Amino acid sequence: QSQELSQVRIDYQAALQALVEDGTRMVCSGRMHTDRVCRFESLCYSTEAEEFVFFHSNSSIMLPNLGPRRFQPALLDLSSVDDHNTQYFNFIELPAAALKFMPKPVFVPDVALIMNRFNPDNLMHVFHDDLIPIFYTIQQFADLDFESRLFFMEGWNEGLHFELYKFMSNKQPLLKEQLKTLGRLLCFTKSYVGLSKITTWYQYGFVQPQGPKANILVSGNEIRHFAKFMMGKLNITKDQNAAEAYIVLFSRSMNRLIVNEAELLLALAQEFQMKTITVSLEDHSFADIVRLISNATMLVSMHGAQLITSLFLPKGAIVVELFPYGVNPEHYTPYKTLSTLPGMELQYVAWQNTEEENTIAYPNRPWEQGGIVHLDKTEQERIKKSKEVPRHLCCRNPEWLFRIYQDTKVNISSLIQVIKSKTKLGSRRQKWTQGLYPGKVRESKCQASAQGTGEAKLFVSWQIPWNLKFLKVRDVKYEVWIQEQGENSYMPYILSQQNYTFSENIKPLTTYLVWIRCIFNKTLLGPFAEVLVCNT
Ligand code: UDP
Repeated sequence: QSQELSQVRIDYQAALQALVEDGTRMVCSGRMHTDRVCRFESLCYSTEAEEFVFFHSNSSIMLPNLGPRRFQPALLDLSSVDDHNTQYFNFIELPAAALKFMPKPVFVPDVALIMNRFNPDNLMHVFHDDLIPIFYTIQQFADLDFESRLFFMEGWNEGLHFELYKFMSNKQPLLKEQLKTLGRLLCFTKSYVGLSKITTWYQYGFVQPQGPKANILVSGNEIRHFAKFMMGKLNITKDQNAAEAYIVLFSRSMNRLIVNEAELLLALAQEFQMKTITVSLEDHSFADIVRLISNATMLVSMHGAQLITSLFLPKGAIVVELFPYGVNPEHYTPYKTLSTLPGMELQYVAWQNTEEENTIAYPNRPWEQGGIVHLDKTEQERIKKSKEVPRHLCCRNPEWLFRIYQDTKVNISSLIQVIKSKTKLGSRRQKWTQGLYPGKVRESKCQASAQGTGEAKLFVSWQIPWNLKFLKVRDVKYEVWIQEQGENSYMPYILSQQNYTFSENIKPLTTYLVWIRCIFNKTLLGPFAEVLVCNT
């Protein structure tokens, strides 16, 4: 099947002449290969060599010009996963004059976003590594939009969730394999290479055991904005005043099963007096799943990629993540981290099977489904006796796979007790006040007064932050630090008014540094104003 690139006709001769005369131009953002996205004009790709080509001419630009550091280890990451050595991008270089000896270039007129998907068959990876980063990379660069063309260069086939990727552009995304059908030398008129990592919240344990990223830069607001976009694409209109509260049990049909699912369903319905619905990726369309989850009061599921759908839950909803025997919930927190992002406003509870008699293990399965019979006998025995998988790196730790692919008979009373003790039904528990921070206090001044020989006073005053004039803030406080010049310690004060006379521990003939900042609602700390230097 041939891939129609665009209806836009381009003047071929002019484009070819521009390529030969101007060569490739590249300007990137980001200081390191791990945070870099590059914008190119006239970047080419040889489908025979499977290499990107940078053509040098008098007008070429290459910024950053890293010299050989471009290979240490790469110019940039093509996927949103940090520094993964299978995901590196680079180009090879040629003089533009070499075009004379090459196949006639085929020009790609669409603005291209060239990237790798990380694991397109796993729903969690689809959202976390690809869809959300694509969505926000498109928002980051002015000439990317939903008319841009996505190029997936990781080399996989469409994968199980290609329909979701199609929502990210009005044009058909193209796979690496399909590029061959377009021509031998493709030249992208305008392209962006790489994905923004600003929205990712989890690292999968390639260099240290998995966990939340060290410096999370995304809040629930952006995740929910993305969720709303996806729901639009799925034709789901959110039913704000849903008639009836209900619980969704997201089940897996192939592995990591809940063996007493029917019993659990009944128990949840009875305990919470709510309808309870089972869904699975095998039996429901993705749109139906999202439609159900987006109005649910509670989502219950085994740990697993399907839990990424918790990003569609309404605010205030409860996420219950179940863990098999031997798997410590604190060590595997992609969904906990998501649920507890500020502004997600979800209530998260983990439950773990702690009773060995309630677990069903599969030592005889293939290793990737948790089998261990390929290991030597003593190692098999050690794994079977172990009560908890020690922290480990990704991705083939046999003890981890053995435990995570167990089936579980859920101890229903212990589960219900955990849910009841850790959550509140029908509430938005920790209300996240949209973080509006105060500005600096203004016009701060100090005035010293001597009081005989041994004592002195310091009168300090300031004006409210400029943005407070336009805000209704429940609680406005000022924090003042008084530091004697040259000392490491300071005296802190919390004040409600805009001036104060300090007399405690104030000495005459001394220089004090005074730091002032405003605090909204006890927790929103503003910046310090420029330090005041006060001589008594
Ligand atoms: N999956 C599923 N039903 C199953 C097992 C897996 O729908 O019984 C889905 C799962 O949600 C994920 C993909 O298949 O999207 C791969 O599952 P895997 O167990 O490899 O990954 P995990 O869920 O542990 O991230």
